[in-house]
Amino acid sequence: MARGDRVCVIDGTKYRYCPDCNHGNPNETWRYLYCSENCRNIYKTVEKWCGKKITSDEAKEALDGYVLPSSDKLQKSIKKNIDQIMASATVEHKVLDNKDDNITEKPKKTTMRRRKIVNDD
Ligand SMILES: [Zn+2]
Repeated sequence: MARGDRVCVIDGTKYRYCPDCNHGNPNETWRYLYCSENCRNIYKTVEKWCGKKITSDEAKEALDGYVLPSSDKLQKSIKKNIDQIMASATVEHKVLDNKDDNITEKPKKTTMRRRKIVNDD
C-alpha cells in the first residue's frame, strides 16, 4: 500500500489521504480514518451509543439522517453495532406529518343558526 492510501473504517472505501500533505487543512484530520463526513458521522453516532451517551432510539434517529453503506460494504465491527441499534430501537422510521403546519388559516366560522329539529317519527 502506497503512502497516503487509506481504507475507510466504516465502509472500506479506498481513498487517499496523507496527513503530511494536508497541513493546510488541520480540521480535516478525521480523513485519516474516514473517507467522507458521512462515514465520520456514522462512526461518531455508534461511538456515542457504545459509550451509552445516547439511547438506541437517538442513535437510530441520527443514523436515519446519514447514508448507510450497503451491508456488504459496512465493516463488520460497525455493522454489528448498527444491527444492535436497529434491533433495540423502539422508534419507527419518522414519518413527517406536516399537515398541521399547512393549516395556517382557520376556516371562517360559519354562523350556525339553530335549526329546529323536526322529528319525523
Ligand atoms: Zn467511508
